Amino acid sequence: MTTTQASDSWRAKESQFYVHVVNRQPLVIARGKGARVWDADGKEYLDFVGGWAVTNLGHTHPDVTKAIAEQAATLIQTSNQFFTIPQVQLAELIVKHSVGAKVFFANSGTEANEGATKVARKYGRAHRDGAYEIITVLNSFHGRTLAMVAATGQPRYQERWQPLMPGFKHVEYGDLAAIERATDAKTAAVMIEVVQGEAGVIVPPEGYLKGLREWCDRHDLLLIFDEIQTGMGRLGTLWGYESVGVEPDVFTLAKGLGNGVPIGAFVVNGRCDVLEPGDHGSTFGGNALATAAGHATLRYMTDHDVPGNARRVGAYFKGRLEDLRRRRPGLVKDVRGVGLLLAVQFNDAISGKVVAACNAGGLLLNAPRPDTIRFMPPLIITEADVDECMTKLGRGIDAALGQ
Ligand SMILES: *Cc1c(COP(=O)(O)O)cnc(C)c1O
Repeated sequence: MTTTQASDSWRAKESQFYVHVVNRQPLVIARGKGARVWDADGKEYLDFVGGWAVTNLGHTHPDVTKAIAEQAATLIQTSNQFFTIPQVQLAELIVKHSVGAKVFFANSGTEANEGATKVARKYGRAHRDGAYEIITVLNSFHGRTLAMVAATGQPRYQERWQPLMPGFKHVEYGDLAAIERATDAKTAAVMIEVVQGEAGVIVPPEGYLKGLREWCDRHDLLLIFDEIQTGMGRLGTLWGYESVGVEPDVFTLAKGLGNGVPIGAFVVNGRCDVLEPGDHGSTFGGNALATAAGHATLRYMTDHDVPGNARRVGAYFKGRLEDLRRRRPGLVKDVRGVGLLLAVQFNDAISGKVVAACNAGGLLLNAPRPDTIRFMPPLIITEADVDECMTKLGRGIDAALGQ
């Protein structure tokens, strides 16, 4: 644990002045570069949390920093009553590289999903006789606004916030027949993550998303992919849907899109470009600063095949995690994930202890579940970074088990 003075005093001030909604790891992070961060006392860490799957190009990437600095000195915010150039440039670049036809920018993931929900309701009203319901799956995560709390298929996020907004129905994940049974005249869309992130990196069963696509086509439902975590190269392809070979009607983005500058987006294909003036809006959404950051991020990612690096290094990393499972079968129950969204599930609920020990040992990790740790490093990491992670992970596990 870091217990030196600078970090201690910031932690004390935080508990005095900040709403206590998260039990933080005891690290005060002051600086970052690439896959490394330094705490307020100068200690270095290998960062495999990556700003929660956000800093996909690494911390303070020079191209993004330059774009932010130049845009900050040029124009930051105009309101969406006016045209701005970076907003149009980023929308054009997303469309050029995806199945999308049009883009709308929000400020966060949950807002992007709210927008996609409006698209589904508008589409259902126009094309399916007023249908408005969206089917989502259990253990999904779609955000923290009240509508997205209702969309998220996890009682632990919902119990405190009754009454929930109507219009969402939850079914078992991976079960196509359950979607079919849940579909009725009220159904407008299905919304789903390509790989479930917050659930502990759950990969869909073979053929499931393809089957969903066919079901949606047959009943004129929109297929919405929440790509907030899986988009922007995370799965080793620019968009997660490319890794499963299924094209959505709508997909949403946020986390990696601005490499850390807050921005979200929903992207629609030509079939569901249904919103009209007055239907939606945002004061900050897609402002010049955020979209300049997004444009620099996406341009670097596509020019330098960053998703390819995520695929190659991800495969190497997964191989090393599978070695760990083979060597310690009593410890590791499962290794799963795609690209650089990976997880290790233990046989016991030790992930909190493992993460604490790894963090103290200079490796930042996340525990989405009591028995699961998740890896979501910057996509620019090397095999040497993975080797360092494996060494520190081994030590962290031993420390957590008191060995
Ligand atoms: C992070 C996340 C969200 C919510 O994004 P925020 O920016 O925190 O609102 C929604 N869906 C998925 C799949 C996510 O990973």
